[in-house]
Amino acid sequence: MKVAVFSTKAYDRQFLEAANEQNKHELVFFEPRLDRDTAILAAGFPAVCVFVHDRADAPTLELLASQGTRLIALRCAGFNNVDLKAAAELGMTVVRVPAYSPYAVAEHTVGLILSLNRKIHRAYSRVREGNFSIEGLLGFDLNGRTVGIIGTGKIGQIVGQIMKGFGCHLQAYDVYRNPEVENLGAKYVELSELFANSDIITLHCPLTPQTHHLIDTQSIQQMKPGIMLINTSRGALIDTTAAIEGLKSGKIKYLGIDVYEQESDLFFEDLSDEIIHDDVFQRLITFPNVLITGHQAFFTEEAVRNISETTIANITDFEQGRPCQNEIAAQQKVATKV
Ligand code: NAD
Repeated sequence: MKVAVFSTKAYDRQFLEAANEQNKHELVFFEPRLDRDTAILAAGFPAVCVFVHDRADAPTLELLASQGTRLIALRCAGFNNVDLKAAAELGMTVVRVPAYSPYAVAEHTVGLILSLNRKIHRAYSRVREGNFSIEGLLGFDLNGRTVGIIGTGKIGQIVGQIMKGFGCHLQAYDVYRNPEVENLGAKYVELSELFANSDIITLHCPLTPQTHHLIDTQSIQQMKPGIMLINTSRGALIDTTAAIEGLKSGKIKYLGIDVYEQESDLFFEDLSDEIIHDDVFQRLITFPNVLITGHQAFFTEEAVRNISETTIANITDFEQGRPCQNEIAAQQKVATKV
């Protein structure tokens, strides 16, 4: 099948080509992101393969459909960038990679917690410059601290397992209870209780209308002074302006994020020679107690291999008219909005 692959990086090409060796789909790699202006590149391609920052909104999908595209293959789990209703109306099938390595994201989450706490990123720079002072690098024992996990699906569960290994107490909030998480000794509580009792809060729920700005001025007010807040899920779970106020007041003592509300203008590109016009982001990076990574939590060999293999298998299922277990039905979007 002819597949237009958007937002291609060298690693996408490498892993997708390896996964495609048996299947022999005709993969054509495009560097630009998919949007209304670039959709023309996919003219005559029955399948289009996209990632997190590609914009498959209704006008883009209409254009793709008019050019003959029938399949949108997401090489990620989240699908907040695809208008599923429009896709269904246009008779397009949308498939995704629901799980590729929850360990990758969970382990990166714990990496942010450890780095922020023990200031490993700052110590690294100091030592390289011959500064061996440990002033300002004071951390705290994780053992005995309370970790609040919001969203206890695949990733949240693994974060719970790892943090339990450090001797942390676990509190959880989700719209559904996960018995595996309860077996770890986690206590499901209301959000207000989780905010009030946690030393570390880590976000692992999807971005939906219900979770948009879940962390805002009001919720930050309910948190313990000196909270550590971690987000490896989706940027818009946090109202960044409110987080900046929380950092300025000292209420938030540590902020670790792999995702950012306006990340699509920045992340995955080398902008080291450019002027960054996002003043909110620029303010964020001035804080010594903020650690930002550019949406790399998923980025392990295992995860990228799984993403590529599942994406190719999804495309093959569609081509051969087989039901694909990774198809996102329009109803599923409604279900995740509970
Ligand atoms: P999952 O579907 O296994 O778990 C998500 C959990 O969130 C579920 O238990 C669900 O019930 C819960 N949830 C849904 N709505 C909620 C709400 N309103 N309040 C509280 N909980 C709610 O998903 P996962 O594989 O654990 O992934 C979690 C998130 O991680 C994804 O949605 C995605 O945004 C993010 N992610 C980030 C990266 C990265 O590289 N940074 C990679 C993969 C996934």
